Amino acid sequence: MGEFDLIRQFFQRPAVPGAAVALGVGDDCALLDLAPGMQLAVSSDMLVEGRHFLSTVDAALLGHKALAVNLSDLAACGARPLAFTLALSLPSVDEAWLAGLAQGLFALADAHGCQLMGGDTTRGPLNLCITVFGEVPRGGALLRSGARAGDELWVSGTLGDARLALEVFRGRLSVPEAVFAAARARMEQPTPRVALGLALRGIATSAIDISDGLAGDLGHVLRASGVGATLDADAVAGTLAARGAVALDAAMQRSLTLAGGDDYELAFTAPADRSADVEAAARAAGVVVTRIGRIEAEPGLRVVDAQGHPVDQRFASFDHFG
Ligand code: ADP
Ligand code: MG
Repeated sequence: MGEFDLIRQFFQRPAVPGAAVALGVGDDCALLDLAPGMQLAVSSDMLVEGRHFLSTVDAALLGHKALAVNLSDLAACGARPLAFTLALSLPSVDEAWLAGLAQGLFALADAHGCQLMGGDTTRGPLNLCITVFGEVPRGGALLRSGARAGDELWVSGTLGDARLALEVFRGRLSVPEAVFAAARARMEQPTPRVALGLALRGIATSAIDISDGLAGDLGHVLRASGVGATLDADAVAGTLAARGAVALDAAMQRSLTLAGGDDYELAFTAPADRSADVEAAARAAGVVVTRIGRIEAEPGLRVVDAQGHPVDQRFASFDHFG
């Protein structure tokens, strides 16, 4: 199968009347219509075999995750997904694999009204790069730089479950089958918090999506905003879904929730007097949010327990897995 047959068979779909994509796959460029007063929000993420996924991963799950991590960046900016491009490097043409990839990709894309508008296909080591395009009202994007002293710090959903699954895969942890299945679904099929990002426009002062672990990603927000924070480790521990279902010591729970990574939840800040609005936004988006700390003028991240005592920060190093 040649390059153009491959594109036509797996990636070219009928035009959607009225969509932002005025011209999709098939010409030298795609054309995107932008509504007046809107800015384009753009983000790319590349997935490389051996580094971000194993060759054995199910193709549909890979298609889902490749788009999900990109949509998560739009969510963190409060942007509405419009379209994406897909650059694919393939060692060979495996039709069953491509069909699986397309199925996982388009299921998530359709759920978000986000159209594949173009891309590139070449022979080479397996990797895929997606660029997403979203819209946000001019000046209305949620940025990393907007956190202010006195703001409250929030996180969506649950943290640590993807990392829990990874540690089980690596043979470093063992948990009941049902716990593993749920954790594995979090790792392989993350849910980008797009609806929450949209609902937080005009409420949140800053936001970031958690890909590398809460403590590390929060550090980006604190530096960009020129502030510090105190984080309640016990409040964060409550966001580990497997908590209670499996006996984990406190140090392990903290490592998973504070430094686990691959969560694709949103960490965000909002003024303390907007907490009811935050709760309402989360309800409207169908997501649980948890208040986990406070932004302060003093730079740096201070992690404390429920009594306010400093917590051992070695959770970040994951050395007790080693
Ligand atoms: P060009 O040579 O002008 O760069 P290509 O031959 O690479 O164009 O691609 C032909 C058309 O197919 C273009 O519209 C391009 O956007 C689209 N395309 C190529 N690869 C993909 C892909 N993996 N997914 C979606 N569209 C693709
Ligand atoms: Mg090309």
